[in-house]
Amino acid sequence: MNKHIQGIGMTSQRTRDRLVDRLRAEGIQNERVLEVIRTTPRHMFIDEALAHRAYEDTALPIGQGQTISQPYSVARMTEIIIENGIPDKVLEVGTGSGYQSAVLARLIPKVYTVERINGLLIKARECHRALRLNNIFAKHSDGSWGWPEKAPYPAIMVTAAPEHVPESLLEQLSVGGRMVIPVGTVSGAQKLKLITRTDSAYEEQTLNAVKFVPLLDGSIR
Ligand code: SAH
Repeated sequence: MNKHIQGIGMTSQRTRDRLVDRLRAEGIQNERVLEVIRTTPRHMFIDEALAHRAYEDTALPIGQGQTISQPYSVARMTEIIIENGIPDKVLEVGTGSGYQSAVLARLIPKVYTVERINGLLIKARECHRALRLNNIFAKHSDGSWGWPEKAPYPAIMVTAAPEHVPESLLEQLSVGGRMVIPVGTVSGAQKLKLITRTDSAYEEQTLNAVKFVPLLDGSIR
């Protein structure tokens, strides 16, 4: 780690505390989630040039036209995933910077994550290694297909928005499991949805409006 990043590391505890105060004011209530956000170095997942903005409650570019999600979304989606207790594993679709997977890995025993852009995946893995998060398993593939070999999942979190919920992800959800997913178009409105699988059906709840990059079909790169 170079001096620049270390410097930010030393001063960032105060700014991280301020971010947590803000998330609390915006309605995040789960103390375990807030504590993980308070102690996870988001600046490590962002390019040096933008690292000074790491503890603002905003999405930031991470290259390849992608973004690290807004801390509020990370906190809210994590809170929803663990609301009924801690699942033994979670599938994340859209590794991106790896920040969301790092937050999940500090709460959930096993985190499986898939990303279609290999360049992003390589950087995310480096951050996970530096933070000694050995319970994150990351794969380069099209996440619309999930990660069938490790299914079923009691929890699935999708961090890019499809226009419709992919069938494969529904199939890979355990009975009793929950999936949190933004649905909609990039230009139009996107809504965060919570899908719960029961014995015989999928129950869908529509939550707040959100803004995510699109879940792209097909090719990986
Ligand atoms: N969870 C990330 C958010 C990254 S933005 C973070 O904490 O930084 C969403 C990511 O989803 C992007 O990196 C994008 O490349 C990825 N993505 C988009 N479509 C995908 C697909 N079909 N399969 C896997 N990843 C996809």
